[in-house]
Amino acid sequence: MLVHPDDREIAHTVRNRVRTTGEGQGVQVRVRTRSARWLWADCWFTSIRDSSGNFGEHTLLELSDASAQFLRSEALSLLVELRNLIDAAATFEQALNVGLDRLARWGRFDAASAWEFDQGSWSLIGGGPSGPFDGPLTPSLTARSEAVLTVASTQEWAWLDTKTTTGAALADAEGARARSLFIPLLSTGDTIAVVELCAAASVDDEVIELVIDVAGQLGGAFRQRRIEQELVLAQRRFELAFDEASIGMGLVAPDGTFLDANASLCNLLGRSRDELAETGFQAITHPDDLEDDLAFVHQMLNGERTTYQTEKRYLGVDGSVIWGLLSVSLVRDDAGQPLHFISQIQNIDDRKRAEADSARSVARFRAAFDDSPIGMALTRVDGEHAGDIIESNDRLRSLAADLGRQTPIANLDDLLGTENCLPFDQLNDPERGGASVSSEGQLDGANGERWVRLIAAPVSDVADDAGRYAVVQIEDITEQRLARDRLAHSALHDELTGLPNRALISARLGAAQERSAESGCHIGLMLIDLDNFKDVNDSLGHQAGDRLLEEVAGRFVSCLRPTDTAARLGGDEFVILCDGLSADVGRAQHEVSTIAQRVHDSLELPIDLDGTAQRMTVSIGTHVAAGNGESIDVALCDADAALYEAKILGRSQTASFDDDLRRKTHDRSRISRELRRALPDGQLHLAYQPVIQLNSRRTIGLEALLRWEHPSLGSVPPDQFIPVAERSNTIVQLGEYVTEQVCETLANRPEFMRVAMNVSAGQLARSNFVDTVMSALERHGAAANRLSIELTENMLIGAADSSLRQLHELKELGVAIGVDDFGTGYASLTYLKNLPITFVKIDRSFVEGIVDNKDDRVIVNAVVSLANDLGLATVAEGVEHEDQATLLEEMDCTYAQGYHFGRPKPLADHDRSGWLHKELVERVR
Ligand code: C2E
Ligand code: CA
Ligand code: CA
Repeated sequence: MLVHPDDREIAHTVRNRVRTTGEGQGVQVRVRTRSARWLWADCWFTSIRDSSGNFGEHTLLELSDASAQFLRSEALSLLVELRNLIDAAATFEQALNVGLDRLARWGRFDAASAWEFDQGSWSLIGGGPSGPFDGPLTPSLTARSEAVLTVASTQEWAWLDTKTTTGAALADAEGARARSLFIPLLSTGDTIAVVELCAAASVDDEVIELVIDVAGQLGGAFRQRRIEQELVLAQRRFELAFDEASIGMGLVAPDGTFLDANASLCNLLGRSRDELAETGFQAITHPDDLEDDLAFVHQMLNGERTTYQTEKRYLGVDGSVIWGLLSVSLVRDDAGQPLHFISQIQNIDDRKRAEADSARSVARFRAAFDDSPIGMALTRVDGEHAGDIIESNDRLRSLAADLGRQTPIANLDDLLGTENCLPFDQLNDPERGGASVSSEGQLDGANGERWVRLIAAPVSDVADDAGRYAVVQIEDITEQRLARDRLAHSALHDELTGLPNRALISARLGAAQERSAESGCHIGLMLIDLDNFKDVNDSLGHQAGDRLLEEVAGRFVSCLRPTDTAARLGGDEFVILCDGLSADVGRAQHEVSTIAQRVHDSLELPIDLDGTAQRMTVSIGTHVAAGNGESIDVALCDADAALYEAKILGRSQTASFDDDLRRKTHDRSRISRELRRALPDGQLHLAYQPVIQLNSRRTIGLEALLRWEHPSLGSVPPDQFIPVAERSNTIVQLGEYVTEQVCETLANRPEFMRVAMNVSAGQLARSNFVDTVMSALERHGAAANRLSIELTENMLIGAADSSLRQLHELKELGVAIGVDDFGTGYASLTYLKNLPITFVKIDRSFVEGIVDNKDDRVIVNAVVSLANDLGLATVAEGVEHEDQATLLEEMDCTYAQGYHFGRPKPLADHDRSGWLHKELVERVR
């Protein structure tokens, strides 16, 4: 069949009509050429009459070539179709592919493709090989590229013979030969692409012409399509970017109102798109930032700048501050009129907060550094730069200024001096693992010396190219040092006098003993006790007492050799340690007594206390020892024993600890031990000595005297054990025993008999002394006015106010109070008259010499007459002879006691001898 299948029906219809009507008719159909191409042809059907003259079976067909005309009109409709295809395609690529495909099919090409020059090379942008050309194009790529290039530059179409290597061609071993037609796609004078149409068979020239023509006209359509697509894409991309951007974006009109805002911006500003549309950025800008922002906007609108970026604060709906990083660009229309701003806003709250935090932290650190009460410096530690100060604080600078250093100080050495150099090499040593170094040193400066503590720590993580660093603290510890020294001093010194205290002297004594053990030299210990210091305290007050102590301390110090130390042990007790005395004990003792004498002499001049010239004396106990391992306590104890001895000797005396004293002390300590058992073991009893009324020679009373019968020591005299008991306070128990016994005796004796008992200071010092006495009297039903108590003169002088009050109380209750051993102490009778006493006992030592010694006689006489004047009774002690008694009677002495009248005896012995009985009988008679 020659007619194209699509055209056969119409050809048929026309032919039938011609056959039946006999009228000729034409139609245009496609007919096949010998080259198997379809060509348009004008067909004219004429009915042919048969032999009978009827229109018969046959029609005459006249064919004329209409292809050129058809082709042209087809090309026209192809162009329209292609344009429609291009327009209808979803994308440019699709438009290209569909267009190329249609073009190829129309021109019966086997493949169509498009090349585009892009980034320095030609590349396939659409279509592609098909049919026999679906294999790789590589073998002829270079030739193609060249062809494409030529066509692009000349804008003339061209043919290229190509050899393909398709699978089919390879089967022929030779490969098929083909031709490619390259046509430039032109638009507004530019080659925008090159189309390659490839055909294995030959193509009619007319077709080629038309294809070139059609393709040539497609360039503009493609370009348009592409531009449109790019625009759409760009628009879509922008919208996407706008909407989806994590950064806040807004379109802002020149007057500041938001034309659009993306979700991020709404989120950031806490406002909806609509809400933003109603507000300008001015309304939501922090007032403090508005001015700057508006200035930028102005510059943009004026064309002074095209973009700006600033950090500013927006206001949240609740008034909170939102920090944003704003980047703005201005979009203008073609005429250059501002259209809108594109604003990008990034929330930088976190960064701002972090910045603020870090700024605060830096500021805090800086302040801590600057305001530190400790001098601080950041220094280099490496090599020749060691000690170079990079930063220093105020304290360090003021320390430098205080020391008169030249400021600013460039290197620590300038501040510390070389002797206080820090061991920078250690700091620089990474092996030490960043351990700090510290030291203390003394800095000499223009305004005196300062003590500093240095601590340097390497800054481990900050070693940089410039080297390694250290933080150095320089603490002024002068005050601390002084306080520490003061503390150390006060721990070892007496606050009042500034002399060493017990702790320090003990330490010095220990050291002296060690030296003595090595050298064989002797050590002297001198215990000093102020005589009657209590009087000064009581009469002039404690402040005067303190001043007195200070003064005597100074005088003691003036007596010392360089090797001696004076210390205050407490109260009015001092000690002098004499170091490095002679190795010869006799010489050493002499040296010590020389010093002791100097001490006595130093007090010769009275001490001025508020205008009162106060005379002071001291008792001194000395002890010379070698470094024989004697403990410090024992050494002090020995000196104390000597002091005790000196006290017994009276005022202003020195006693030394010698063998005698050692024995005494030894005995005393034994007595002290034994005495504790004496009372419970019933070794104590009382002896009674009669008291005689001189003018009647009658016994009017008894004095109770304590007796101790020790199983092995025998009878121990009271002079030996009473002082020991007084020192150990056993005297209180002994006193209670005596009180008890005396009251019992009183109860069993006739009414007129009085009993006297001796009372020690320790007893009177007890606040319950009066109660003890009164309750014993009550218990035995004895009247208080039959009891006498005897106190020594010194006891009365030294008695505390509370003791004196108790005496007053007792006197009020009727108890007679007497001064024992009168004359041995320092009290004058006139002084005693103010005390609550009723009688005076003249000491035996005066009575003894009353007959032979005129002085004694004068004294006793004076005492008796003065006592009588004061209304005090007198008792003479130790009357051993009748002439003494006679003399005393003549002197008007009231009573007497002594062996002449009777020795102290147990009560039972008195009764047995009958004198009491006799007295009784006489009295009754
Ligand atoms: P004192 O109170 O002066 O007692 C008198 C001392 O003189 C007694 O010594 C007595 O035996 C002694 N004596 C009496 N007449 C003569 C005499 O004619 N010639 C001589 N040479 N001596 C005579 P004694 O008993 O050894 O007592 C000594 C001191 O012991 C007493 O002196 C007294 O101070 C104290 N004492 C005795 N008993 C007690 C007591 O119970 N309590 C207290 N606190 N002290 C007591
Ligand atoms: Ca007595
Ligand atoms: Ca006496």
